[in-house]
Amino acid sequence: MNWNISNNLYKEACKLMPGGVNSPVRSGRAVGFEPLFIKKANGCHITDEDGNVYIDYVGSWGPLILGHSHPEVVAALRDVVDRGTSYGIPTRLEIEMARKVVEMVPAIDMVRMVNSGTEAAMSAIRLARGYTGRKKIIKFNGCYHGHADSLLVKSGSGLMTFGIPGTPGIPEEIVEHTISLPYNDLEAVRQAMGSVGEEVAAIIVEPVAANMGVVLPRVGYLEGLRRICTEHGSLLIFDEVITGFRIAPGGAQQLFGVMPDLTCLGKIIGGGLPVGAYGGKKEIMEHVAPLGPVYQAGTLSGNPLAMCAGLSMLNVLSRGGIYEQIEEMNTYMCVGLEEAANSAGVPMTINRIASLGCGFFTKGPVIDLESAAKSDTESYAIFFREMLKRGVYLAPSQFEAFFVSAAHEKEDIDRTIQAAFDALKVVGQSCPSGEREKV
Ligand SMILES: *Cc1c(COP(=O)(O)O)cnc(C)c1O
Repeated sequence: MNWNISNNLYKEACKLMPGGVNSPVRSGRAVGFEPLFIKKANGCHITDEDGNVYIDYVGSWGPLILGHSHPEVVAALRDVVDRGTSYGIPTRLEIEMARKVVEMVPAIDMVRMVNSGTEAAMSAIRLARGYTGRKKIIKFNGCYHGHADSLLVKSGSGLMTFGIPGTPGIPEEIVEHTISLPYNDLEAVRQAMGSVGEEVAAIIVEPVAANMGVVLPRVGYLEGLRRICTEHGSLLIFDEVITGFRIAPGGAQQLFGVMPDLTCLGKIIGGGLPVGAYGGKKEIMEHVAPLGPVYQAGTLSGNPLAMCAGLSMLNVLSRGGIYEQIEEMNTYMCVGLEEAANSAGVPMTINRIASLGCGFFTKGPVIDLESAAKSDTESYAIFFREMLKRGVYLAPSQFEAFFVSAAHEKEDIDRTIQAAFDALKVVGQSCPSGEREKV
């Protein structure tokens, strides 16, 4: 495989943009690879500038659950673009979108559209603080909620990938009200809430953590968080930017039957355009301006292109059948991956739910940030490069999920598994940190 054009574009890009990219994990630094430059994509396939075609498991980091260039989404966009791209004046589409979200997501009675997951989480925190009149928030190590200042504490993939513990540019005074606790550890939450519970505005959690690889909540964990929040008068915020519309039509709250007070949405809700949303109980949402005093705004929020792309994707998803199909494909792939790892004698722990998965290069189990961080990232880097050579594009970081879409067919999965058998053999032979063992 030849990457001449991508490599040259990367050199140009590096002169003009920090690291040549507009978001850090894309850069491929963590896996010793210069980023590909993509020319086009269709279904589960992406084509780079050199003309190489790959089976894609990134799906724009989650939004493209139907695959790239889904015909209905593309047609809807074509239809709307001729009528203007943004007015900053209400449209019918915004009502349709809001209605769809309220119908699909059980804990949302009222919703506000924003332009990214970052904005959704940042705004939900502001609303929780405004509503409760309290300052502190609790988050969990390895959970990512976008890059708003108060949330960028022990926050998963991007920082982990580059080994950055926190980030300069955020004064201590801003994060002094943020408490970060281990994921899946209710006792830690009980203790913290026991001492400062009356000051805690909200607990924010990824109901399935998908930014330190994929880490499932322990049985009873989400229920426990719900109970503790209710006891202390704190709000429970589910950041469903990844899990929303992905692990079930109504997200993790529907799948696990636990209702948060506020929900953050992003990724799938935009159908591949930049969109986020936050919503929840009417009584809380009524505190948002102009109805209430908590200010939050957006020049391009709810613009017709974004609404239309997202809405057409949600319409397809609510027709049914899709979730079962993708989960079946993901299960099939994970079983294949496991066999491939076993046969190569490479320790791997595969965590999986619905169409999300992650193969950690560690014996496991992986239940929180600490256990995820035991993964051998050098092995992952080799795996990534060997898969790429064989036409499979995985996330360029151990600490990211792979996303199976409705466009992945059995034939694609079979090719992926075959590639994994070969790639993991190479990993097993190189065993960079001498971690290899007989399984
Ligand atoms: C991606 C993500 C965000 C941030 O969304 P952006 O659109 O990248 O700002 C927030 N929370 C979670 C759980 C995410 O996965």
